[in-house]
Amino acid sequence: MGHDVCLVQASLAENFTCAICLMIYERPHKLQKCGHIFCWSCLDQWITSNTNCPICRTPTCGNEMTSEAYRPYSIMFGKMSMVRVIDNLDVYCRHRNRGCERIIKLRDLNRHASMCNHNPNRAPVSCAKGCGAKLRSHEISEHNCVTFLRGLVEAGNRERANIEAENKMLRRYVKNIPRHKMN
Ligand SMILES: [Zn+2]
Ligand SMILES: [Zn+2]
Ligand SMILES: [Zn+2]
Ligand SMILES: [Zn+2]
Repeated sequence: MGHDVCLVQASLAENFTCAICLMIYERPHKLQKCGHIFCWSCLDQWITSNTNCPICRTPTCGNEMTSEAYRPYSIMFGKMSMVRVIDNLDVYCRHRNRGCERIIKLRDLNRHASMCNHNPNRAPVSCAKGCGAKLRSHEISEHNCVTFLRGLVEAGNRERANIEAENKMLRRYVKNIPRHKMN
């Protein structure tokens, strides 16, 4: 399976799209006879039940996937190795539909996406300003340290008020216990 990404320059995609998975090549691999390129994993799977190229039907040579035949950096795109060109493609963040506007090199996408503020599965992080709040990704833009701290104080006050009310009740209860029952 290739890289499921959205290229900033969509016109480039046709140079790097795998005809099997329809995504951007991951570890591009070239068939030796016809020169068509696919993702390594897509081709590896295709070849278990087929003996020809998925595009042009040229018979494959039988040892396509052996380690000697697999030299990903030898496939060129212009003057650069295709692997490097793909690594350097500009892509949109996976969380673009949730509001991330970042454009990232494909090689950095996973690292960014896992820490992206718009990633709903990201673990809560401490507020960068040090108020002590633990924030989920969707809370960061709304977060205000002052409001958060005021909330803490109010919660503390509420708790104190509850304890005081309870104490008052207990005192009244003790006072009202009839004398004879205490002996
Ligand atoms: Zn593929
Ligand atoms: Zn072919
Ligand atoms: Zn992002
Ligand atoms: Zn804060």
